[in-house]
Amino acid sequence: MGVQYLSWSYDQMGVVATVLLAEETNNTTAWQRWLPSGPVALLPLDNKRSSLVWSTWHDHAKQLLKLPEDQFVDSLNDALWNQYPRSTGVATATSWMSSALRRVGLPDGVDRQLPPSVRHIVPKSRAAFPLGFGHSTRYVAPGVVLVGDAAHRVHPLAGQGVNLGFGDLKDLTELLAESVYSGFEITHPTWMEKYESARQRHNVPTQLMIEVLHRLYTVDLLPVVLARSLGLQLTNALQPLKKLIITQATT
Ligand SMILES: Cc1cc2nc3c(=O)[nH]c(=O)nc-3n(C[C@H](O)[C@H](O)[C@H](O)COP(=O)(O)OP(=O)(O)OC[C@H]3O[C@@H](n4cnc5c(N)ncnc54)[C@H](O)[C@@H]3O)c2cc1C
Repeated sequence: MGVQYLSWSYDQMGVVATVLLAEETNNTTAWQRWLPSGPVALLPLDNKRSSLVWSTWHDHAKQLLKLPEDQFVDSLNDALWNQYPRSTGVATATSWMSSALRRVGLPDGVDRQLPPSVRHIVPKSRAAFPLGFGHSTRYVAPGVVLVGDAAHRVHPLAGQGVNLGFGDLKDLTELLAESVYSGFEITHPTWMEKYESARQRHNVPTQLMIEVLHRLYTVDLLPVVLARSLGLQLTNALQPLKKLIITQATT
């Protein structure tokens, strides 16, 4: 297409697998824990199974792929449960924020459930994919349209990659139908460009938000850790802000 494509690699891989939970539960919550090497996430499939996305450094990902399945499960449960030293300054600030939120009647985020433990992985379901960011400056050219990861790639930390692609297809099919019903060629530039600007207006801010989150969570400077911990508590407590983020992620 001769268009510019902005991209970089995160120097990380996403290790994926289908996991069987230790106990059958009402498995409706997606869990994500940020470790020093990157986030590990369990996304519910049904009451017994979840889908694992474990972002980590290349060497660690390769080691995880080579481990026998039972040792892989032990490492995963460690990653989900292991306690890391916490800064007392941050712990004091978040506990102060919790009591302040409680005093004004807002959710304090303290009442948390525990993540599930993993018993097995589905045999041969392990794989690893390189993680990167990418964005094409143009989504259309005469007779060509980019959708999904061909147009934009994001870090899986927000579980948004597929949603962005589904959104592209929804808008594209609507605009192509409008183009045909209005008596234009299906590839008429007016409709193609409408697709491009509608999607870029949605995709670029979402990509930036994910990028900011990624950067916030790869730094362990105390002021940044403090800001993100308090920011997360506030975002959870302020319903209008939380709803705005959910709407952006689901449209
Ligand atoms: C580790 C990881 C975890 C993820 N987790 C999530 C998540 O939890 N939630 C979420 O929403 N998204 C997630 N994503 C992102 C999601 O997987 C992608 O956004 C989505 O798969 C993109 O779909 P796509 O059809 O655009 O591209 P792809 O899924 O990449 O499909 C493109 C297809 O084209 C084929 N292909 C490429 N070149 C050619 C060619 N020249 N000829 C023929 N075929 C070709 C490829 O083999 C591939 O099958 C994750 C991604 C990774 C890497």
